[in-house]
Formats: sequence, C-alpha cells, structure tokens
Amino acid sequence: MTDHIHRVRRGRYKTGTYYFQCMSCPFIATSLQMANHVVECWRCGQPFKMSRNDTRWAKPVCQQCRSGKALTPEGLVGSALEELLKEDK
Ligand SMILES: [Zn+2]
Ligand SMILES: [Zn+2]
Repeated sequence: MTDHIHRVRRGRYKTGTYYFQCMSCPFIATSLQMANHVVECWRCGQPFKMSRNDTRWAKPVCQQCRSGKALTPEGLVGSALEELLKEDK
C-alpha cells in the first residue's frame, strides 16, 4: 500500500504548524519534514523533490509546472492551475 509517491495536501494544526498529508495513505509530515521529500506533482503527476520553498503551496507542483514548461495535461489549464495553487482559506 505504501509503494507510491505521496500526493500531499497541506493542512494546518491549531498550533499554527503546517503539515502535509497524503491523499491516499496515512502519511503525514510537518512542512519542515517535507523539505527534500519526494512527492507527486499535483499538476503533471510526476515525482519531484520538494524544497523548503515548495512547502508554501497547499497543493505542491513541480518546478517545471510552476514555470509553465511542462505539457499541460487535459482538463487542467491556465486558471485551473491558479485555482490549484491558491491557499485554502
Ligand atoms: Zn501516500
Ligand atoms: Zn509537474
């Protein structure tokens, strides 16, 4: 059950600490622990290594997707990405 790349979504503890939780398994880690962790890109589905910087995304995407160089998957274009990267309020 654990031989997959985690696709993580950010959440926040009451203490204010951010954490990332996998969508398909019980994996959970704080944003500090997520730095240098390999996760699945929310946009292209490719694994990438998260940097400290990436932990500010609610739904992390890889470098290529962020710079717009990756191929656009069907059904997810332009403003959809913006939507994806928006903070959860
Ligand atoms: Zn997982
Ligand atoms: Zn990507």
